[in-house]
Amino acid sequence: MKKPSKTVKIGSMTLGGSGFAVIAGPCSVESREQFQTTAQWVKKHGAQALRGGLFKLRTDPSSFQGLGEDAYKLAFSVKSETNLPFISEITDPRQVSDLEEVVDAFQVGSRNMHNYALLKELGQSRKPILLKRGLAALYKEWILAAEHISKWGNDQIVLCERGIRTFETSTRNTFDLNSVALAKRDTPYPVLADPSHGTGDASLVIPMSLAAAAAGADGLLIEVHPDPKTALSDGFQSLNFKQFEDLMSRLNRILPALQRDLQ
Ligand code: PEP
Ligand code: MN
Repeated sequence: MKKPSKTVKIGSMTLGGSGFAVIAGPCSVESREQFQTTAQWVKKHGAQALRGGLFKLRTDPSSFQGLGEDAYKLAFSVKSETNLPFISEITDPRQVSDLEEVVDAFQVGSRNMHNYALLKELGQSRKPILLKRGLAALYKEWILAAEHISKWGNDQIVLCERGIRTFETSTRNTFDLNSVALAKRDTPYPVLADPSHGTGDASLVIPMSLAAAAAGADGLLIEVHPDPKTALSDGFQSLNFKQFEDLMSRLNRILPALQRDLQ
């Protein structure tokens, strides 16, 4: 039997109620100018929270690893200026105490969904946790990962489908909308969809965002960059400003039919 649905509050944003949430920003925080202009743009067009990676776990160790602690101040000041909650990935349990001063929710990335030591640590934090599905994780393993957090006392969990590796190579990942509908049906947690990583292709992000909303997702995690071709990570899947504006105007047209609205 499904437990009653939960809403999770991340700063001023509520996930899992009748509202629909858009969390947007760059894959990586690269500079003040890049993060600030992106934050202002996504806010102006209706995003309710900011994303931005500080610690990046890259497949190639020689590629950009994120600004890390050096960007805590910068991230904090942009979040304060825009007055939007900020979500960023935690990659190591030793980051908890300092990073929790900067973020409104911790993101557990795909590569760490099976990192049970990290999940245990986050289970003892009071911050909400955005738990991404592992890149090759079964649906069931993802839901059990949420239990690894909740068993230590933190039930402020938001699930996020970000695509999985399958035999299909035409897109970076196979975006599994089945799991969004399944998690909404069978778990008490709010469910987000990340079509940026789910598709790995900016030109597919708008159609799959609309599909995710129609499938019952409570919101979206979207990568946006002022100039995607110069991005230090995931530029190929990042929306430019115009594309983000377009996404929001299309969402605004379909959400009323789904009895939801951007709060
Ligand atoms: C990200 O959100 O930029 C990210 C690294 O995501 P994932 O863990 O899903 O690859
Ligand atoms: Mn990314």
